[in-house]
Amino acid sequence: MSDQRIINSFIELVKINSTSRNEAAIRWHLLGELRRLGYRPAADKKGNIHLTVNGALAHGPVVLFNAHMDTVEPGNNVQPKILKDRIVSGGDTVLGADDKAGLAGILEMLRLLKAKKILFHKIKIILTVEEEIGLHGAKALRFEDVKADYCFVLDSDGDVGTVVNQAPAQEILDFQVKGKAAHAGLNPEDGVNAIKIAGLAITKIKSGRIDSETTANIGIIKGGVAGNIVPDEVLVKTEARSRNEQKLQKQVRAMVNAFRQAAQKLGGSVKIKHGREYEAVNQPLDSAIIKITRTAARKINLLHKVLASGGGSDASLIFGYGVPTVGLGIGMENVHSTREYITLRNLTLLPKYLLALLQSANAYERAARR
Ligand SMILES: [Zn+2]
Repeated sequence: MSDQRIINSFIELVKINSTSRNEAAIRWHLLGELRRLGYRPAADKKGNIHLTVNGALAHGPVVLFNAHMDTVEPGNNVQPKILKDRIVSGGDTVLGADDKAGLAGILEMLRLLKAKKILFHKIKIILTVEEEIGLHGAKALRFEDVKADYCFVLDSDGDVGTVVNQAPAQEILDFQVKGKAAHAGLNPEDGVNAIKIAGLAITKIKSGRIDSETTANIGIIKGGVAGNIVPDEVLVKTEARSRNEQKLQKQVRAMVNAFRQAAQKLGGSVKIKHGREYEAVNQPLDSAIIKITRTAARKINLLHKVLASGGGSDASLIFGYGVPTVGLGIGMENVHSTREYITLRNLTLLPKYLLALLQSANAYERAARR
């Protein structure tokens, strides 16, 4: 019954349009579902949903579950189809299992909690907006919102039982290169070509995969006015990521130096704006939360796998607040593509794993108190 219920609930969720910044309809739907279950969810100014559920136990851990409400493009008018063992989209949109499998999993866990009368102390749920376009929903959260003993972020691919314990920090670097405009035919010697400065800098920068923990990308280059004018301004937008702080700083320094040196060499200048988008996630293998995920996986006979990820998510920001946090594989595959799918097995296992996590977290705390 629970299995069919989560499949129906998932299908219903993916049919609701909810690309980033257009989460009103899905938020309305989720608030309604939560209220029907007897809870009192609230939405904050940014549009994130918050819910705290107090269990019957006076003591125990506060367990936070997080997922995001928005989907990527093309994500409107999804026509989900159930094939033999999986759910796919009609082929012209994403499926939106990223992250509606997470939403469906949390809703079904809450339904099961009621039905099975499971004992726990406190659960927090945070469902964010605008995750896909820069973690904007999560950035609006305060420490009080995310304060918890353990946080599970339901937003990773891989089978249920997969745990993501490491993710990179990300640095954003914008280079505003200044040269000097001149007529290309009449007096080019009076000009300083900003595109040439940017070009020289870019050839000196290592990008793509730097090593197993580090990546960098030149993402946008914009500048120039006309074919017959020496361009005096170019904007280059880049990023660097690493799970290793020293390597990240080294990469950032190399990128900054490449632009400074190129500007100097060719007689221009460069204004550099860079900043940390989010910090790295690094949850040690011997930490309590990893042990809890292992115990929970064993409890329901799942393969427990711990992996590192190359991407950022709400987990990056919540971990940044000092909350023990891991990402959970929720069975979504080929995300951000029209070939996205989720198997029925993973979808139906997810709420059971969430319940097992809750129970394992409580058992772990009880054992630790003895
Ligand atoms: Zn996602």
